[in-house]
Amino acid sequence: MHGMQARLISADHMGSFGVDEPIWQSPSGQLLNVDFEAAFPLKQIQNRPHSLWRYAEALPVKPLVSFDEGFTPMITERIQGKQVHIKLDFLFTTGSYKDRGATVLMSKASQLGIQQVVQDSSGNAGCAIAAYAAKAGIACRIFLPENTSASKVVQINAYGADVIKVPGSRENTAAAALNEAGHTYYASHCYNPWFLQGTKTWAYEVCEQLGWKAPNAVVLPCGNGTLVLGAYFGFMDLLKTGIISSVPRIVAVQAENCSPLWYNFNAIPGATLPAQTIAEGIAIATPVRGQQILDCVKQSGGLFLKVSEDEIKQSWKDMARRGFFIEPTSAAAIAGTAQYVSNCIDDVVVTVFTGSGLKSIETGLKTF
Ligand SMILES: *Cc1c(COP(=O)(O)O)cnc(C)c1O
Repeated sequence: MHGMQARLISADHMGSFGVDEPIWQSPSGQLLNVDFEAAFPLKQIQNRPHSLWRYAEALPVKPLVSFDEGFTPMITERIQGKQVHIKLDFLFTTGSYKDRGATVLMSKASQLGIQQVVQDSSGNAGCAIAAYAAKAGIACRIFLPENTSASKVVQINAYGADVIKVPGSRENTAAAALNEAGHTYYASHCYNPWFLQGTKTWAYEVCEQLGWKAPNAVVLPCGNGTLVLGAYFGFMDLLKTGIISSVPRIVAVQAENCSPLWYNFNAIPGATLPAQTIAEGIAIATPVRGQQILDCVKQSGGLFLKVSEDEIKQSWKDMARRGFFIEPTSAAAIAGTAQYVSNCIDDVVVTVFTGSGLKSIETGLKTF
């Protein structure tokens, strides 16, 4: 059994709150993290259904709102002449890995008796929260930047969410949602700590699929860092319980046109104003958990890479020609993988197809 009750801890370590409080930040406005001692009874896990909920003792929530999601296939492909493992996370119910976070967060919301949630997103997190809200019978309002891909807007509308389009930048959208979050539960993938309790299952699955071994490195797309942070937390859980003996290097990939964390990590001044990128899922100029992302990548011995629009497009086409129709944002991670494996001597590298190409029809029309 777990030795410790789960708690919510504020980022400055000054506040500690019970997990039955319906809060997504501390009363003084600090980010929260879930503190919880995960356990992995390997024999039992092995006999359970192939879903991310097979790691029950590592998840501080019951699966109240679930589509039996997760345990996505992990395949190998040759990139720059090197075999790389790729998790097929575009196969989730809503077409992106955001379902990992949504199933845990919305299960928590359901357990707390929450009737209404608000969220803001450049697309996929909105799709995931809207779908799980529909499943849970929870009312859902999603704020979107005006220029969000039509496919994602249609999908969110289809789930019955109340969609509000906000003119201007991604930051304007976040501000509008934050305002609403003053009186509604904020199901934010960036602020709400329960989301990251779901994305950490990516690391559990990777290690299990490698025979309970850690890879040398994982290459992940990074905007708000929900997969980067989740992966780091997940690998740390496995390290603390002695299942793996080291945490893989986390290689976080940003689009050159919007790469604030790359500049910060490398202590290079002059992060230019963000420009347009086809990798809309990681076009985040001011990531809410920026410092935490930088710390985790550093702790893992990892690094940041940035990829150009041409590299993203090339990887997008290259993967499509192999039968993988992914989002341009996912192609950014593959372009980063191509850079990384050209310069590393790692044996085992894992990356991910985060989202489906069906989400990016407008960009597809211009490309294919
Ligand atoms: C959200 C998303 C990402 C990146 O996630 P962050 O949490 O912003 O780092 C990558 N790919 C796709 C398809 C996404 O939807």
